[in-house]
Amino acid sequence: MPMRHASKTEFEPAAARRVSVLLPLPLGTAYDYRLPPDMTLTPGDFVSVPLGRRAVTGVVWGDGDPAGIADGRLKDVAARLDCPPMPDALRDLVDWIARYTLSPAGAVLRMAMSIPEALEPAPPRVGYAIAGKLPEIRMTAARGRVLETIARGPARGATDLAREAGVSVGVITGLAAAGALVRVALPADGGAAAGPDPGRPGPALSPEQQDAATALRDAATAGFSVTLLDGVTGSGKTEVYFEAVAAALESGRQVLVLLPEIALTGQCLARFADRFGVEPDVWHSDIARGVRRRCWRRVAEGKARVVVGARSALFLPFPDLGLIVVDEEHDASYKQEDGVIYHARDMAVVRARIGAIPIVLASATPALETVSNCESGRYRRLHLPVRHGVAELPDVELLDMRRDPPARGRWLSGPLVQALGETLEAGEQALLFLNRRGYAPLTLCRVCGHRLQCPNCTSWLVEHRLTGQMQCHHCGYAAALPSLCPECGAEDRMAACGPGVERLAEEVVTLFPDRRLAVMTSDTVRGPAAAAAFVEAVANRDVDIIIGTQIVAKGHHFPMLTLVGVVDADLGLVGGDLRAAERTFQLLHQVAGRAGREDRPGRVLLQTYHPDHAVMQALADGARDRFLAAESEMRRQGGWPPFGRLAALIVSGPEEAQVDRAAAALGRAAPHTGDIRVLGPAPAPLAMLRGRHRRRLLLKASRGVDVQRALKGWLSQVRWPNGVRVQVDVDPYSFL
Ligand code: ADP
Ligand code: ZN
Repeated sequence: MPMRHASKTEFEPAAARRVSVLLPLPLGTAYDYRLPPDMTLTPGDFVSVPLGRRAVTGVVWGDGDPAGIADGRLKDVAARLDCPPMPDALRDLVDWIARYTLSPAGAVLRMAMSIPEALEPAPPRVGYAIAGKLPEIRMTAARGRVLETIARGPARGATDLAREAGVSVGVITGLAAAGALVRVALPADGGAAAGPDPGRPGPALSPEQQDAATALRDAATAGFSVTLLDGVTGSGKTEVYFEAVAAALESGRQVLVLLPEIALTGQCLARFADRFGVEPDVWHSDIARGVRRRCWRRVAEGKARVVVGARSALFLPFPDLGLIVVDEEHDASYKQEDGVIYHARDMAVVRARIGAIPIVLASATPALETVSNCESGRYRRLHLPVRHGVAELPDVELLDMRRDPPARGRWLSGPLVQALGETLEAGEQALLFLNRRGYAPLTLCRVCGHRLQCPNCTSWLVEHRLTGQMQCHHCGYAAALPSLCPECGAEDRMAACGPGVERLAEEVVTLFPDRRLAVMTSDTVRGPAAAAAFVEAVANRDVDIIIGTQIVAKGHHFPMLTLVGVVDADLGLVGGDLRAAERTFQLLHQVAGRAGREDRPGRVLLQTYHPDHAVMQALADGARDRFLAAESEMRRQGGWPPFGRLAALIVSGPEEAQVDRAAAALGRAAPHTGDIRVLGPAPAPLAMLRGRHRRRLLLKASRGVDVQRALKGWLSQVRWPNGVRVQVDVDPYSFL
């Protein structure tokens, strides 16, 4: 139990001792509280304080302000929680992110306190041990295995024991009920378990890999540095940064490895276990709350040596972080788009600087921002130019869809169908990539042309035949396909337009009825456990053809996959997104990188209506650096990031007129100096989202401008009514 101190009300002649306490609520500042005479607190301590009639848990942020509210109105800190204090570096990071993103510090703090129950000591864990005297019980094979297993080690929890013995938990509880096992208390949070062992040998590295590994090892103990590990897919970036992880572990410090959420599969954890003997601690939104609680606590107590996690792992309370790795650093999912809008890769660099530790960014297609930082000398670059072993980079061919159009209602062109046939004939696997969930992206009435749209969003409804629903991919709205057109009333005349993965699967089944097909999207494969099972099925060759969206693109290693067909390579190029070309290049390059990762050479076919587009040409020629240079030149000339700075304001609310008025007022108050321009207000491409109307303003500034100051000055001049919200997005990645 946490220590609770009774609050005191007696008269105090001397000035009250005060502390400021930041609360995990959308408040911009910390509040002062009185420190009871018998309590000592240091910055970072978690405390319970009164707020109105509630008790709230917050963090001691510093000394209180004696010139602040009068002593008489101060309330007492109620209790200090029995939990390691929040490390200085994390508090600094919270303040830094709040300033940078113009978010209330309390809202940022909330991300660092996402598991409030972790602040309480762990509930006692119950384990099972063998009973001193075995009673007469009915023996079964399963029960026998449990008794054998338990005899070989210490008392264990029911889940662990069941897993080791290969039985269900019910067998354990059954044995306990029969008196063959007894319940005992286990040490909380498994502190005694062996940690990762950096002394285990890794694979023999190639000379290039060895050079990179040595450089990372040297950096591991030399203070703040940023290193881009730039290596083609399959070049062994993971093996190389494992050496940096080993070095940090040898010096006794903790390590954080950030991955895009979906890449957190069993495959990646198994590789870690191969190298270091045990699986790392894992942190992402999809794991059970109890497991997250345990991870948070283990991190705070320094017991978790290596955490592999999604972007929110950045907010874990590492007391002794010694290294950060951001794998697939270019990945767009590092940008959090709601609540506090921040970029986890950039904030990880800030965290490394605050902690004076090295950070490694790994990618085969680094972000233009990162490349530019290497060119200016702020980041160091290590290069791995070739695939490991005999594997070669796949050949990329463009299929000109103007020349070889598929038949009506079909989506695969002749050459791609032929390549599929050849690949399957050779006993190899093929991947068809189409970044569109569902059956068809658009449904319209053949009679009047009416298109089915989401009632809450500016977005077409996507037909999903698997679930028999029309879905909005923005707000989750779902409805059955209407048999009558909602506009003209015509019966059964609604028609699906364009392909999604489900429709593509229909085509593949007609073409190759005897082959085993699997569809991998976020609809069919939910969460890391399901993803791991899918990956295993492919690796075991239980699947011949995979159809997938971007979730198949990331990180997976399928030895027998030799053909990748991209059904619509142009898909990402539409729309006015600043990074459309860069992202399309990254995504297609990554998908292409799934082919031919071992001794069988890979082949990639891109179906495109724009074979002359710079992105397609660069992919076909394997000319990444040429593409980046051209893209970079375009951004430089336009003053776009990373050569200029952007911030977006998104004004939204349920009443269109109110939103328009607020946006217009912001437009009138916009700063226009020599080096700042404001574009808009304009309706956002998603002019309505979840029932809220949206307008956008974009601030564009030259590099030297203090954007935060400009934004603050700007926002302070305008008031907007309740119900209207103005979101600030510094360094926007989404322009929707
Ligand atoms: P990347 O992260 O650059 O895509 P990986 O680290 O996943 O590359 O390596 C690709 C494959 O090659 C993996 O199966 C990995 O285990 C293997 N590999 C890489 N380097 C070596 C090495 N030096 N010895 C043995 N296997 C290696
Ligand atoms: Zn919607």
